[in-house]
Amino acid sequence: MAEPFKLSPLPWAQDALAPTISARTLEFHYGKHHAAYVKTLNELVEGTKFADMKLEEIVRQTAGKDDAKEQKIFNNAAQVWNHDFYWRSLTPKQSKPSGALKAAIEAFGGEDKLIKDLAEAGKTQFGSGWAWIVSKGGKLAVEKTPNAVNPMAKDTNALLTVDVWEHAYYLDYQNARPKYLEEVLAKLINWDFAAENLSREAQPVRAAA
Ligand code: MN
Repeated sequence: MAEPFKLSPLPWAQDALAPTISARTLEFHYGKHHAAYVKTLNELVEGTKFADMKLEEIVRQTAGKDDAKEQKIFNNAAQVWNHDFYWRSLTPKQSKPSGALKAAIEAFGGEDKLIKDLAEAGKTQFGSGWAWIVSKGGKLAVEKTPNAVNPMAKDTNALLTVDVWEHAYYLDYQNARPKYLEEVLAKLINWDFAAENLSREAQPVRAAA
């Protein structure tokens, strides 16, 4: 029998991101919301062909499907993946971008522009969703996605994400999503994680002629 999906441990202590993101927010966001996506996913895939698949495979295979059950599986599988990715996108011990990531950021227009565009994507995502830095053929881009949708479902390579669902910021910032984005992007971005993801990008896509 397939092993059930597990809630991955946080990469830092629950109070390590305070005051930017409080332990109280993580108690709910990780301990309740993220945990519930894992639990629901396990219930939904039990006895189906998805039970033996890796999480990423489930996300890819259920993305954009019409079937109501597969949509539910997608929503929960993608939310499990997105939250694992979000926690690793944040760190209390920031370093500056270097090497290939630094060069890619410079080609994009610089770190300030990247952060500004990412904040704008997060602010303008109507309703629940995610703001992302992605790469395609080594070139950086900023995207926003609704609900559980992620770049994997759109075939781009995710480097970094910020959760803009209300549950990510309401306890600390109430309705002030722009303030949450400003604080998180100034203090918690894990550039080492972004660099790792950039280096992992499968096959560079050839630039359009
Ligand atoms: Mn969330």
